[in-house]
Amino acid sequence: MTFDQLGLAEPLLRAVRDQGYDHPTPIQAQAIPMVLSGGDLLAGAQTGTGKTAGFTLPTLHRLAAAGHKKDARGRIAIRALILTPTRELAAQVEESVRTYGKYLPLTSMVMFGGVGMQPQIDRLRKGVDILVATPGRLLDHHQQGTLDLSHVEIFILDEADRMLDMGFIHDIKKVLAIVPKQKQSLLFSATFSDEIKALADRLLNQPQLIEVARRNQTNDAIAQKVHPVGRERKKELLAHLIRQGDWHQVLVFTRMKHGANRLAEFLNKEDITAMAIHGNKSQGARTKALSEFKAGTLQVLVATDIAARGIDIDQLPHVVNFELPNVPEDYVHRIGRTGRAGAQGEAISLVCVDEEQFLRDIEKLIKREIPRQTIPGFEPPAGEKPEPIVLGRRMTIGVGAGGGGRGGRPGGGGGGGRGGPQGAPRGPRPPASAGQGGARPAGQAPGRGAARPQTGGGGRPAGGGASRPRGSGGQGGGGSGRR
Ligand code: AMP
Repeated sequence: MTFDQLGLAEPLLRAVRDQGYDHPTPIQAQAIPMVLSGGDLLAGAQTGTGKTAGFTLPTLHRLAAAGHKKDARGRIAIRALILTPTRELAAQVEESVRTYGKYLPLTSMVMFGGVGMQPQIDRLRKGVDILVATPGRLLDHHQQGTLDLSHVEIFILDEADRMLDMGFIHDIKKVLAIVPKQKQSLLFSATFSDEIKALADRLLNQPQLIEVARRNQTNDAIAQKVHPVGRERKKELLAHLIRQGDWHQVLVFTRMKHGANRLAEFLNKEDITAMAIHGNKSQGARTKALSEFKAGTLQVLVATDIAARGIDIDQLPHVVNFELPNVPEDYVHRIGRTGRAGAQGEAISLVCVDEEQFLRDIEKLIKREIPRQTIPGFEPPAGEKPEPIVLGRRMTIGVGAGGGGRGGRPGGGGGGGRGGPQGAPRGPRPPASAGQGGARPAGQAPGRGAARPQTGGGGRPAGGGASRPRGSGGQGGGGSGRR
């Protein structure tokens, strides 16, 4: 199968050729003709499958074929709306729109929070065909009357599962209420939970279904390995692996922001260039870290799960779980950063005795055992006893942790976690620090609705990360909380 066989217009084929792509990926081969035919689509595809081009190319084709439309004020009307969970993903998707649409007379814009509204308002005034946005800022604009979505013909939800995890369900419903009923809708999600199915039922009209990577299956192009190691020696082991393997582009995951900062500091002291990327960093700092990492001048990017979401780096060779995620599905997302679009990648997990249950949960989810390999000189110390893992100021899980999220540092408060691991009552979400349009860390739930209690979930074996309002978005705020 070649791109020429998909029915795309010549300017798009030229742009694809410029990218050096020879063949469509499986999701592209299936999605492009379906989207071109005008029908709705429910697609199961992870990052790295080429899904972005899968929806961007046919969207551009359809819009170009129809020609510009004008809104009531005579401006170019927004005809395609793409919603993404994070700023980074929004920026990357819009970049793809520009890349693939470079030979077409279509305009696009990206819109997210944490930056000033006015430049976005100015841009909107000029008129735009394709808008890529995160839900919070989109609604801010709508409320201020600076945005007209009444001409949307194609509506795309990208990484819908992650949006629900991040508590965006209410925002999505609000957006659905302001876009026209009659439209083509595409929903992309790495996993299909009941909530995603409910959302799909609501949004999609007799959708075609594509699933390129089955649920919770890790990509076979990724070589996975576990290095058992003592709790206190992970940092040294990481530095050792980077030096020994002469790794030049390593994405390292930590569970918590401060852990990411500490690790980046340590690596820099070891003369390994590293930067931490997480929600507390300014947009400028995150953009800089990401671009240096992509350019190859920064060796190591240390990220938390939320910050890493949507990072798009071609053929990333190494992903390291410096700490295993306490939510097993995050493992699948994390290692999806490597082995992209057919390239071989390596995903390494440094696992200490405290994390053995996390490892078992992950292996259960992916239905395979990850090979263990002890690195000489870094063997776990004999008799090291498991200790509870502190996920936030209020939440501790693992061996010896109290069932109600006790056991962390005294004082508590403001952790914003999902409560205790065994379904202990969850505290209300801390008040949003930023109101409408204010700075909101990427990937965090929007400021509006901040007082919504986290009543979703139940039965999740471990909490969803202390700083992350996962699963809060069940129907009416009381959903199952599971994917
Ligand atoms: P995505 O899943 O959309 O995040 O895309 C993953 C990566 O694959 C992107 O960096 C694209 O540049 C790359 N890619 C997309 N389509 C193709 C293709 N047909 N052949 C090779 N690489 C591709």
